[in-house]
Amino acid sequence: MRFLVTAGPTREWIDPVRYISNASSGRMGYEVARQALRRNHTVVLISGPTNLRPPRGVQTVSVETALQMHSAVLRHLPDVDALVMTAAVADFRPARRSSRKIRRKSSLTLRLLPNPDILADAAKIKRPHQVFVGFALEDSISATENALRKLKAKRLDLVVLNTEQTIGAERSTFVLITKEGGIQRLECTKRALAARIVRFVEETIGRDTT
Ligand code: C5P
Repeated sequence: MRFLVTAGPTREWIDPVRYISNASSGRMGYEVARQALRRNHTVVLISGPTNLRPPRGVQTVSVETALQMHSAVLRHLPDVDALVMTAAVADFRPARRSSRKIRRKSSLTLRLLPNPDILADAAKIKRPHQVFVGFALEDSISATENALRKLKAKRLDLVVLNTEQTIGAERSTFVLITKEGGIQRLECTKRALAARIVRFVEETIGRDTT
């Protein structure tokens, strides 16, 4: 199967030296890429800036901004069976990027514009055979209603609910919610969760084609 995985944060530049971003190590997405490869799938990894080395054998597309990630995802989407969207996309970008470093002053007001919702746009062109997995970072691991709303709005087959304690951590608590309404709580490493996600995709595609 062909997997498209996004990972890491995006950077939204204010001027040549400053940016807005999200706290994200990229580990979750890189683990999904690694586990999919281990199971002999092909993987395109679209990654924002991270300190991680992409697994050998993965086609990596490096991006910085949400707009770049948006166009890379939509470009590769028609060729894949599964989209696993772990990236922490910045919700806003500065309305303009200053070409020069902004000088220090007593105050600075930034006007921000909303970035496109990549998953929502991917959902508009989702094909029936494709499987989508998304993540939902909520204040509480019991915020299943919000996660379910995302699952429906973004036409996800699986949404993984987690909290900010997951950021940069090796293991955490996750709640997996499927579009059929199955709910499973896992306390495990990101590697184990990644393997679980790859298995979910295999099972869903296997079921749909039998
Ligand atoms: O709505 P929310 O941002 O919480 O949804 C999270 C999911 O949507 C994640 O899978 C994230 O990668 C994806 N997302 C996106 N584009 C955005 C924001 C989030 O694809 N602009």
